[in-house]
Amino acid sequence: MPVIRGDAEYLPLEQVLPSVGVRIHSDAAGGAVTLSCQGREVALYNKKSLASVGGDLRLLSAPALLEDGRWLVPADSVSRMLGPLLGAPVEYRKASRVLVVGNVSVPKVSVNAYVSGDSVRVVLESSEKVPFRVLQEEGRVTVSIARDLVDVGFQQERLTGGIVDLVRFVGGKENLFAMSLGKRFQQLKAFEQDGPPRLVLEFQASTATASKGGAPAAAAAPAPPRAPEESSLRTVVIDPGHGGAEVGAKGPGGTLEKDVTLGIARKLRASLTSNLGLQVFLTRDGDVEVSLDERTAIANNYKADLFVSIHANASRSHGASGSEVYFLAYQATDDESRRLAQEEGGVPPVDPSTAPAGSDLALILWDMAQAEHLEESSSLASRLQEELAVATGHETRGVKQAPFRVLVGAAMPAVLVEVAFISHPEEEKLLGSDEYQLKVVAALTRGIRKYQSEWQRRAGLPATASRGGS
Ligand SMILES: [Zn+2]
Repeated sequence: MPVIRGDAEYLPLEQVLPSVGVRIHSDAAGGAVTLSCQGREVALYNKKSLASVGGDLRLLSAPALLEDGRWLVPADSVSRMLGPLLGAPVEYRKASRVLVVGNVSVPKVSVNAYVSGDSVRVVLESSEKVPFRVLQEEGRVTVSIARDLVDVGFQQERLTGGIVDLVRFVGGKENLFAMSLGKRFQQLKAFEQDGPPRLVLEFQASTATASKGGAPAAAAAPAPPRAPEESSLRTVVIDPGHGGAEVGAKGPGGTLEKDVTLGIARKLRASLTSNLGLQVFLTRDGDVEVSLDERTAIANNYKADLFVSIHANASRSHGASGSEVYFLAYQATDDESRRLAQEEGGVPPVDPSTAPAGSDLALILWDMAQAEHLEESSSLASRLQEELAVATGHETRGVKQAPFRVLVGAAMPAVLVEVAFISHPEEEKLLGSDEYQLKVVAALTRGIRKYQSEWQRRAGLPATASRGGS
């Protein structure tokens, strides 16, 4: 039955797999195991917290482990992995240690916070009736839900106004939500409502500042009524590839990649600032050399929510054209991607000569900052690629993965955009023109806006009003 490794509870794979229809192909030497069922596939890798589910990456709560020929999978992640494989909802009931396959009900809980002058309302809404337990502690209020499994599409939200500073889903066995109280907090009212079942928490501010004479005596001006925090997507760092003596690729007509990337990056900064209201920084705002590690360090220092590296492609084959968007992987999608990552990256993320065996290389990479953001990076890459394909009218070259050195250290969703082929005479001309650069920038802006609204939907936040065209 379950075994404990580190802090995590694991289940032996053979035990959790329903006996019907799932084939297990264990490649112990390669450190991988593939599960297949009716044409669907899930791959797990020894000591990796990532699973490939039908070709998409899914994060596991802890790494899968291969021990004496036996595969152990984190109990928390069984449903995430097996659901798509079996094509049916799967729930692992921790308390009872039962795996339920089929139509089990997993309550979906969404969280919304509303800030107005003297109060904050936090609403937890569930798709079915669940037992909410509210507890007021020193400096915080917690809500727990005594169910084996709840589906929570919310991580955290910072609030203004000083009544509640932070609302956070902590998770754990109790499915804990925590609200950190601010300086102005005075009292809490909690009540439940039906249809759909909801728990409403009303946090009231201290009213001590309202004087008896009725004068507006508040020491600090009360926060103006406002919509809930729009999004935690606020800061974007744009990385114009190359710079200084490092000119990047060179077009047949002499156009330099470093100039094209800076031109596009500056225009993109203006567009994201005015159209999406984002705070934008560039890793370089002039013709200077910046190392690859420094570029992500800048993004990490700004605590950027997104990192977008801009490049222009070069190919030895004359016909190559179109745009490509990449996110990080050790395994390149194809030979061309691998070559490109080497040309753009200088040194690959891991020196193969210093690592023991093929599959182990990937482990080193997964440990890096970017690992936990790969899913988000992949969806950002898709949105950008879709918009670029529409805007440029070029063939879709698709989202690809490659071991780009510049993406490894990014502690946020990060992508690398190869806008077009500077090696292609026509595309070189386009890349040098303001008109084309603006077209690309408009597409990237739309892609980031789509990603932003998807992000908000997942986070259970209301959609941000558009601030004009892009
Ligand atoms: Zn480049």
